[in-house]
Amino acid sequence: MASEPVNQLHILLIPYLAPGHTIPMIDMAKLFAQRPNVMVTIVTTPLNAIRYGSTLQQHIKSGLPVRFLELPFPATENGLPEGCESLDALPGLHLVTNFTAAVDMLQQRLEQCFDSLNPRPSCMLSDKYLLWTGDTAAKCRIPLVIFDGMSCFKQLCTHHLYASKVFNDFPESEPFVLPGLPDRIEITRAQLPTEFNPSRFTMPEWLERVRESESRAYGMVINSFEELEQDYVNEFKKLKRGKVWCIGPLSLSKSNDSGKSLRGNSTSSDDQLYLKWLDSKEPGSVVYACFGSISQITPPQLIELGLALEASKSPFIWVIKAGDKAQEVEKWLSENGFENRIKDRGLIIRDWAPQLLILSHPSVGGFLTHCGWNSVLEGVSAGVPMITWPQFTDQFLNEKLLVHVLGIGVGVGAPGVVHWGEEDRLGVTVKSEQVKTAIEKVMDPGSEGNERRKKAKALGMVAKKAIEEGGSSHHNLTLLIQDLLELANVRSQKPLNSNDQKKLAGPDDFIY
Ligand code: UDP
Repeated sequence: MASEPVNQLHILLIPYLAPGHTIPMIDMAKLFAQRPNVMVTIVTTPLNAIRYGSTLQQHIKSGLPVRFLELPFPATENGLPEGCESLDALPGLHLVTNFTAAVDMLQQRLEQCFDSLNPRPSCMLSDKYLLWTGDTAAKCRIPLVIFDGMSCFKQLCTHHLYASKVFNDFPESEPFVLPGLPDRIEITRAQLPTEFNPSRFTMPEWLERVRESESRAYGMVINSFEELEQDYVNEFKKLKRGKVWCIGPLSLSKSNDSGKSLRGNSTSSDDQLYLKWLDSKEPGSVVYACFGSISQITPPQLIELGLALEASKSPFIWVIKAGDKAQEVEKWLSENGFENRIKDRGLIIRDWAPQLLILSHPSVGGFLTHCGWNSVLEGVSAGVPMITWPQFTDQFLNEKLLVHVLGIGVGVGAPGVVHWGEEDRLGVTVKSEQVKTAIEKVMDPGSEGNERRKKAKALGMVAKKAIEEGGSSHHNLTLLIQDLLELANVRSQKPLNSNDQKKLAGPDDFIY
């Protein structure tokens, strides 16, 4: 006998425990839960629920069907300091494996309480770095959709690099053309992402497991919008038999100032100060410089950046996250007189800035970024051109997209990956003069700068449209929900016949 049709979707959303991964998934939870008949349970740890939950509390109070499932994080059991529940809270990279072990222990904790979740989840949407979620989804007999956190451009580059291994034929710093892409883009081996350019901390077997778990998932959600990288989206969809949904930019789910400000650390009292400072500057005149949540720039390299900001003559906001080197950096800022010299023109924010709030202020005219994918999309959404200074992972590929495909960025000329944890070994790789030149190009009031600004502004408008009703990302979210509902319905009619089996077939032999 056929069972009742399933008309409600309950999504178990599981972010990886790092700001660049959790922030977009929190935004995603809101977008899903705003749709009729969709509810979301966010699986995270107590401190992360506090850190990111504030953005949603107001909505939850007014009835948004989102809730948090808090799993205690086994920090001390794994040799981590008490309260270390996020990658950016690690005191040192030697503890990454301990952190990974603690994250893996969440599997058992989730499985123990899965049956008590009411209603029973209909699918799992998990960050790609949570390798155990595939097994858990299979045990619970629900489909797994992966959130990749990077672009289709990156996906396609990676696919062709794995397939061709073309980089093996080239020395470290000799440019070669990325194979199989719709555009002609050159890169060097030194700039390739970790998969092809490992550091001493890279765990190749772990990366292989990430790939394998991606290929077994039912599909993939991408924080991007089709118009940004249409050719790459099309090609990537072909590789994944259509099971790819671009539903971003997720940061645009934040419509008001408090939503933009309450994102993973900010204290709103300081935010008012920053806004006032920005209000005092000319429209489009300010450079905002920030390297995301986990990059560790060495003090000598930070000094080069500071000198470039000073020499460029544009007003600037500089977010400094110096971690355990903070004392050294503070010493330079004060003793050398830098802070005093720039006090009328520069604002320094320590550790964490309300990035979305700042980027959406009309005084900001350029974004100096490390090219983390969230930051790239946030810059695109704000319609500002970018000064690109990639560090590692996908960031050099993101730079290629901004500079060579979209034409809205100018690179500082970073020669290659500065691996996470190996910053001191390489020393200064980019000099202040290079950074100054890139800043001046982006802020240039002449025709070249104007052309870039126009392009950036136009893309920003397209980004906003994509997420609104009738836009491509809004539509893709509808399609994804329909697809998952259909899947849940077919699953509820047991046993599956061969036609259903075919219909359900994911990119490969997907987890179910
Ligand atoms: N972020 C922020 N303030 C900061 C640093 C980072 O709000 O001072 C946010 C930023 O807006 C983005 C995320 O943290 O949403 C960083 O993600 P991204 O992919 O850009 O870089 P990652 O930190 O993963 O390297």
